[in-house]
Amino acid sequence: LADMLKNPDLLISSAFVGGDWMADAASGKRFDVLNPSTGAVITSLPDLSVDETRAAIDTAHLAQKDWAAKTGKERATVLRKLFDLMVANADDLGAILTAEMGKPFAEARGEILYGASFIEWFAEEAKRIYGDVIPGHQPDKRIIVLKQPVGVVASITPWNFPNAMIARKLGPALAVGCAFVAKPAAETPLSALAMAKLAEDAGLPKGLLSVITSKSNAPIGQEFCSNPKIRKITFTGSTEVGRILMRQSADQIKKTSMELGGNAPFIVFDDADLDAAVEGAMISKYRNNGQTCVCANRIYVQSGVYDAFAEKLAVAVSKMKIGDGFDDGVTTGPLISEAAVSKVMEHIEDAKAKGAKVITGGSRHALGGTFFEPTILTGVTREMKVAGEETFGPVAPLFKFDTVDDVIEQANDTIFGLASYFYANDLTRVWRVAEALEYGMVGVNTGLISTEVAPFGGVKQSGQGREGSKYGCDDYLEMKYLCLGGI
Ligand code: ADP
Repeated sequence: LADMLKNPDLLISSAFVGGDWMADAASGKRFDVLNPSTGAVITSLPDLSVDETRAAIDTAHLAQKDWAAKTGKERATVLRKLFDLMVANADDLGAILTAEMGKPFAEARGEILYGASFIEWFAEEAKRIYGDVIPGHQPDKRIIVLKQPVGVVASITPWNFPNAMIARKLGPALAVGCAFVAKPAAETPLSALAMAKLAEDAGLPKGLLSVITSKSNAPIGQEFCSNPKIRKITFTGSTEVGRILMRQSADQIKKTSMELGGNAPFIVFDDADLDAAVEGAMISKYRNNGQTCVCANRIYVQSGVYDAFAEKLAVAVSKMKIGDGFDDGVTTGPLISEAAVSKVMEHIEDAKAKGAKVITGGSRHALGGTFFEPTILTGVTREMKVAGEETFGPVAPLFKFDTVDDVIEQANDTIFGLASYFYANDLTRVWRVAEALEYGMVGVNTGLISTEVAPFGGVKQSGQGREGSKYGCDDYLEMKYLCLGGI
């Protein structure tokens, strides 16, 4: 991999603790980072423990005060520089991402630009952390609301977007004056380290950003939640782990932002443009090989267009090219792990046993490893596992429905409420369905909704807080009310 990079310094085998590159853990332990397409070891990293995490938090706590005292414009300048460096190094960052995560290089490079867009956006927002002046309630009183940074933020992120999931949190945290201690997924820490290197190059003051590389999750998570110097936990991952982190944060009433699991419905009504719906379903279902929390998990198709939609989707799926993310023309990489393959197989087997039909795919791919055939299931019903659980893989289960009320009821029958999608053209129907879906995000006649300018987040057990947009700073700010008396 180093040979492929224009700037080989971005491939890092050290942790970043309190502004220093740490080649070895105190314990001497290391862990390997693997390429999921080949199984080859890319490099190894120090396996940090709670002690090193605590040191990073201590340094962040000191550095944060000076950072918060800077003007918004000063913080913006550093973030803007980081954005420029990410764009300038997008090829290298993309290659590192493809190597550790498996997604095709073009998609990986796209993720880098997407991640960078949050850094740019929040660089701009850094100058606009406005408070309020409220008319007083008594003649001698004046009321002012200040917005202040929460302090040191701890971040835990997953492997599916190794750059963007961190960038969406790092951007607003640094913009408003917080310090940031990141614990990237052990599968994909290299993208986080490369971004930290660029942040250092951009002139980010020492100690404000740490990247804790560690194979063990629970002890680091516990330290984050129990260390009083951490004032906020921001997490992207499963609802199950989100619950653990919220419980652990309860003792100190710590602020949390949670971007958790989804179970996105994708609804095709009979007045939809079917070709557009197929195109949207391809993006929403198979992007990142089905491994995103906003991927369509349940595809509901109205009975009049069910067969036609299934046929068109199968044609589109047959054009996908599975393979190593560095190979030309590849649209889809491997799944992240053997555990991911098992879950996909379990969902397919369960659906088949309960009467679903596999019309394409359904098995491991001939390439071996964790490659999997893109799959379409028809005749799917709500009794099957695919209806209630996030598959997180390339399986499109097609449910048939008749009426609007019926599909809304089914779509909302889940503990999750992150993304949803539907295709329809009748204006009244579009408005009513959009209002009735109990989701934080609704894509209408589109399968791609993520952008730095819009508020990303879920309702119900999909989480709390919003990332991106003019609302994205709120999660990293406290509100302070000043009451000036005796005037
Ligand atoms: P995913 O299926 O995306 O890996 P997880 O919720 O299991 O979702 O993991 C998301 C992130 O949370 C990963 O970085 C993982 O290492 C971390 N993680 C998992 N369990 C814990 C835990 N008990 N405490 C803290 N972090 C955890």
